[in-house]
Amino acid sequence: MIPIQHKHLYIDGQWLAPVNGQHFTTLDPSDESLLAEVPAASAEDIDLAVQAARRAFDHGQWPRLSGSQRAVVLRRIAEGIRSHAEQLAELEVRDNGKPLPEAQWDIADAAGCFDYYAGLAEATDSAPRQTIALADERFSSWVEREPVGVVGAIIPWNFPLLMAAWKVAPALAAGCCIVLKPSELTSLSALQLAAIVHEAGVPAGVFNLVTGLGPDAGAPLAEHPLVDKLAFTGSVPTGRRIMQAASREIKNLSLELGGKSPFIVFADSDIAAAVEWIMFGIFWNQGQVCSATSRVLVQRELYPALLERLIAETGKLRIGSGLQEGVLLGPLVSRGQYDKVLAAIEAGRASGARLVHGGERPSDQPVGYYLTPAIFADVPTDSAIWREEIFGPVVCLRAFGGEEEALRLANDSEFGLAAAVMSADIERAERVARGLRAGIVWINCSQPTFTEAPWGGYKQSGIGRELGQWGFDSYREVKQMTRYDSEQPWGWYIK
Ligand code: ADP
Repeated sequence: MIPIQHKHLYIDGQWLAPVNGQHFTTLDPSDESLLAEVPAASAEDIDLAVQAARRAFDHGQWPRLSGSQRAVVLRRIAEGIRSHAEQLAELEVRDNGKPLPEAQWDIADAAGCFDYYAGLAEATDSAPRQTIALADERFSSWVEREPVGVVGAIIPWNFPLLMAAWKVAPALAAGCCIVLKPSELTSLSALQLAAIVHEAGVPAGVFNLVTGLGPDAGAPLAEHPLVDKLAFTGSVPTGRRIMQAASREIKNLSLELGGKSPFIVFADSDIAAAVEWIMFGIFWNQGQVCSATSRVLVQRELYPALLERLIAETGKLRIGSGLQEGVLLGPLVSRGQYDKVLAAIEAGRASGARLVHGGERPSDQPVGYYLTPAIFADVPTDSAIWREEIFGPVVCLRAFGGEEEALRLANDSEFGLAAAVMSADIERAERVARGLRAGIVWINCSQPTFTEAPWGGYKQSGIGRELGQWGFDSYREVKQMTRYDSEQPWGWYIK
């Protein structure tokens, strides 16, 4: 296959070569062949993009349009994504490695996200202000929302187009102008998105796309003084750097970071359903999901039977290129990620956990970043595989006795993105769900994600919420407006 060549960044409504003329390459994770050459932006390109976004925000039409006017353009972006859905899905598979049906799901969700925020933008026209009831009747007070300003959005490689949509759609709907930097591992669908955004008639400077490496392009974007808000999804170490960069100008900040999410399974659960959701919770996208339920706590009576069934079902998973029919587990995204996951598995073995399935290169896949899904049983709670995010198809199991122990083990983590609980006793499941310190708790399922519902974590899993009304509001400032209505003079200094 001839490598895809992209020569240009999308800045101020135009396709521009990076100032330094540099490119980087990305590989197809299914066979390690050269997939694409992508422009490597540097600080100078970032400055051009941020300046363009600043001009568009300070002097352009976009932030001053009505919500309904912006909605028309957002719906055109959704349409644009849908009309290129097949091409985008295939691109996502070749770039990220995920199975095609998962990529198709992502693309449909990305389009849906633009439609959803079009609806929220429109709704602002009919409710432009929120009245505040004041005890002091001499004043009227209300809140109006305004766009935060210029947004620097930095996204990861696990759901390339969908993560772009989660940030670009609400930011544009709110009236912000944005500079988007995708992961250097998966820039291709974002480049397509820029073309779609252009076609949809988004004014110059409102949306800018800069591809490049984290330190060379991400860092200057995070540090740029003219950026008002940073929206980041990625690892905890990079999240810390972003937070530090934000501190200089006290930028508005949202962070969606890692997780080590627990899944508590009570003995009264249906075993087939439990195994299905455990697998969905850790094997979707090869486990490269920030909310993956990677720590499974099973009540002692059910533990042996569930483990046996999980091993049997996991053994049936078809592993291969994401473009092959029937494949449910593709390659990991990159050599770096592959080596990281293999090292975590090795450390798990050394820590005394029992590796009861997988964790190695499949014998029929000599090239590509393939891994048989790994199941660890009886995992010590002080081991790295129990405590640290692996971001791969590696699940850790442990038995527990009662509700209190399950909650204690589940909450014993520095992360708090998601959690899941399963029981036939709904009252108990909801009680346990309330006790879990996590931003998202699934009951009798794991991972279903909805554009309408808030997404984000407690503790070191992040700050703020994406999606739903919460995601929209994170791109809108709250402005208090207060009017003095009384006919009486104020009369403090001048009697
Ligand atoms: P991973 O290690 O899994 O790739 P990262 O958190 O490093 O996760 O990457 C998420 C995003 O952050 C990517 O777009 C990456 O380019 C970007 N990034 C990495 N390092 C930095 C940095 N120092 N400053 C800003 N962005 C960065």
